Amino acid sequence: MSTENSVFSKVAIHTFTNKPWNLEACIAHYTRAGVPAMSVWRNLIDPAEGGVGIEEATKRVRDSGLAIPALVRGGFFPWPTVEERQNAIDLNRQYVDEAAALGAEMVVLVVGAVPGLDLAEARKQVRDGIAAVADHARDAGVKLAIEPLHPMYAADKSCVNRMAEAREICEALQHPAVGIAADVYHIWWDPDVEAELRLAAEQNTLFGFHICDWRVNTRHLLTDRGLMGDGCINVAKFRRLVHSLGFEGYHEIEVFSEDYWAMDQEKYLELILQREEACR
Ligand code: ZN
Repeated sequence: MSTENSVFSKVAIHTFTNKPWNLEACIAHYTRAGVPAMSVWRNLIDPAEGGVGIEEATKRVRDSGLAIPALVRGGFFPWPTVEERQNAIDLNRQYVDEAAALGAEMVVLVVGAVPGLDLAEARKQVRDGIAAVADHARDAGVKLAIEPLHPMYAADKSCVNRMAEAREICEALQHPAVGIAADVYHIWWDPDVEAELRLAAEQNTLFGFHICDWRVNTRHLLTDRGLMGDGCINVAKFRRLVHSLGFEGYHEIEVFSEDYWAMDQEKYLELILQREEACR
C-alpha cells in the first residue's frame, strides 16, 4: 500500500473475505499485495473444517511476518444446559490458546443466542461465560472482543446487538482483557453509535474495528455484505471518528459475499485495496 505513514496504514483483511483461498494462499497473496495484517478465521485452522491444524497454522503465520489482529471467532455462550455452557467455556479457552499461539491480539466473540431463550437471560449467560474465560485470556496475553451483531441476528447468533449491550458487559466485568469489536456493518444504524464509540475509547475497551458496507436490498442475511462503497455506510466517517478517538488498531476488512467469492480472487483483492483507499 502506498501510504506507509498514513493514519490508515494499519489495514487488515479477514481471511473469510477471500473464502476460496486457504491459509497458504491468503498469506501469499496478502504479503505480495503489501497488506500488513490478516485476521484468521478458524475454518483455516480446524481440521474438521478442512483447516491445517493449529501447529501448522502457527508455523505458517509466524513465518509470514503478517500481524494478526484477531482470531475469529469464539463466543456462542448461551445454551439450554449447564453442560453445553461449560463446553462453550472450554472451547473459548482453547481458542484463546490458539490465538496466543498465532500471536493474535484478540479473539472476536460472536456471543450467541438461542431461539426461544429470553434475551436478558442469554445476555446473563454471555456475561458469565466471558467472566469464566477472562482470566485465562489475560494470562495468555489475549484480549476478548465482544462484537455486537445487527439485530437481524438476535434470534440465533447474538443477543448483543448494540454497542450499549457490549458496554454493559464490559462495565459489569471490569476486566482488562474484555472489550469490544466494533463492526460498521452491525452498528452503523444505531443513533447512539458515535457516543458509544467515544465511551468505548474512554473506557479502553475499543479493541477491534471492522469495515465493509451495507448493501441496500440485502439479498441474504449472512453472505451479501458489500465492499466499502457498495452500500449506504459512510465508512470514511467511521474511520476518521475512531482515529480521532485515539484508536490505534487495525481497520479490518471483513466481507462475506457470494458475488465476490465467485470472482477471481486476485482481481478481487485489487478491488478490495482500491476501495479501502477510496474510503479514507
Ligand atoms: Zn466483524
